[in-house]
Amino acid sequence: MAFKTILIIGSGLIGSSVARAARAKAGVETVWMADRSAVVIGTVDRLGIADGTVEGAAHHYASQADLVLLCVPPAKIAEVAADVLPVMKAGAVLSDVGSIKASVIEAVRPYLRDDVSVIPGHPIAGTEFSGPEAGFAELFENRWCVLTPIDADDPALPALTAFWEALGSRVAVMDAARHDTVLATTSHVPHLIAYTLVGTAVDMEQVTGDEVVKFSAGGFRDFTRIAASDPVMWRDVFLSNRDATLEVVDRFIEDLTALKRAIRWSDGETLLDHFAKTRDIRRRIVESGQDEPNFGRDD
Ligand code: NAP
Repeated sequence: MAFKTILIIGSGLIGSSVARAARAKAGVETVWMADRSAVVIGTVDRLGIADGTVEGAAHHYASQADLVLLCVPPAKIAEVAADVLPVMKAGAVLSDVGSIKASVIEAVRPYLRDDVSVIPGHPIAGTEFSGPEAGFAELFENRWCVLTPIDADDPALPALTAFWEALGSRVAVMDAARHDTVLATTSHVPHLIAYTLVGTAVDMEQVTGDEVVKFSAGGFRDFTRIAASDPVMWRDVFLSNRDATLEVVDRFIEDLTALKRAIRWSDGETLLDHFAKTRDIRRRIVESGQDEPNFGRDD
């Protein structure tokens, strides 16, 4: 394995999951972890998932690491990248796990170096929980990890691919704009719809908040799980992936209007046709192993 020493900056759910898996599965000899929060670092120390930890600036470890992996919230990635890039050793790799790629790459571009590979990434794996105690080594197993290299021929791409594969992921390489459109469709807009729908239900005058809780049916409960995701992170996701989100929202509104119209005109054929198509997508997701009913959920 090309990465003997790694530094993880941001020691929450994703960072701590990578830390747990890196030594066990990817042959990493030394895992250092950093976070801006003393409480988080205290928890990491107590859990014993790192060989060394630091609260705040991680320059000392960043100058020695073969791989520096940024696991901070999307709005912080460019700032932390700009801070560590100048001290990284020649030949090292800088990557991240953030859920938005194009705007972050643009913000990092002024700090790029010829002798350090910067290969942004995004593991499509997670739960609605945060912090180092929520992490687990199996989080990335059988999940996709998307890498969006700035230079498609980056010589470090095979090593980073091998790292994620060792963690159990399947790796896809695509350009950042495509990643952002795909994720707007499969993750960001679904979250926006969940936030909207749960807000609408709670605001409905004819239905009390108590009834929403008491009589919540399965469908609504699934939406509340998504709408319980970290508000700050999701605000930043939408603001950072604005163009792709707006494009998908426009398409969604058009399609919703078409279904509304079909209901108004009692056009059952259109409804049936549409629901049959979406059922097929569900079947394909289950068949591809991308659905685990209780993944990250307690209910
Ligand atoms: P998390 O559990 O909240 O962990 C993030 C950690 O980074 C927190 O401890 C946070 O401290 C720390 N942090 C924030 N700014 C920092 C800075 N400037 N320097 C050092 N540490 C800093 O979040 P997460 O769920 O692991 O998400 C981390 C990244 O993974 C995000 O970019 C997200 O897009 C990506 N991701 C998340 C999921 C998911 O399902 N959660 C899935 C795939 C990818 P504070 O709490 O003090 O801010």
